[in-house]
Amino acid sequence: MERTLSIIKPDGVSRGLIGEVIRRFEKNGIRIAAMKMIRLTRKQAQGFYAVHRERPFFDSLTQFMSSGPVVVMVLEGENVIEKNRTLMGATDPAKAAAGTIRRDFATEIEKNVVHGSDSPETAAFEIGYFFNRFEIVA
Ligand code: GDP
Repeated sequence: MERTLSIIKPDGVSRGLIGEVIRRFEKNGIRIAAMKMIRLTRKQAQGFYAVHRERPFFDSLTQFMSSGPVVVMVLEGENVIEKNRTLMGATDPAKAAAGTIRRDFATEIEKNVVHGSDSPETAAFEIGYFFNRFEIVA
C-alpha cells in the first residue's frame, strides 16, 4: 500500500472541479486518507516547490499556487503514485493523453488543475508538508 499527495490547484477549485477530480479518484479505486482546504501563503508555496526555485516559472507558479484556496489530499492505494500521475496526465495539457484530468480540464501548462507527487521520496516530503500523522486516517 502506497500514499501520495494530491492538490486540486486554485484553478481547479475556482472552476468548480473539486467533485469531478475526487470522483475520478474514487471511481479508480483510490482511497482518500486525508483531505483539507487551505490557502497557501506565498512562502508556503515557495517551500512546497523549493526543488523548482531555479526554474524560470518559479515566481509565476508560486504566485498562482497562493492565489486562492487549494484542496490537499493524501491518496492511498496500490501503486497510487503512478496511478494518480496517469489519471492526471502530462504537465502540459496539450500533451496529456485523452481522458486525463489535465487534458479534459487544464487551460495551460501552469494552470493545470492538479498536482501529484512523482516518487515515494517526494510523496513523503509533500505529505509531511501538509499533514501530521493524526490527520491521516488509516
Ligand atoms: P508536474 O509534476 O506534472 O506537476 O510538473 P513539474 O513538477 O515539472 O512542474 C510543477 C508545476 O509547475 C506544473 O504542474 C505546472 O503548474 C508548473 N510548470 C511546469 N512547467 C512549466 C512551464 O514551462 N511554465 C510555467 N508557467 N509553469 C510550468
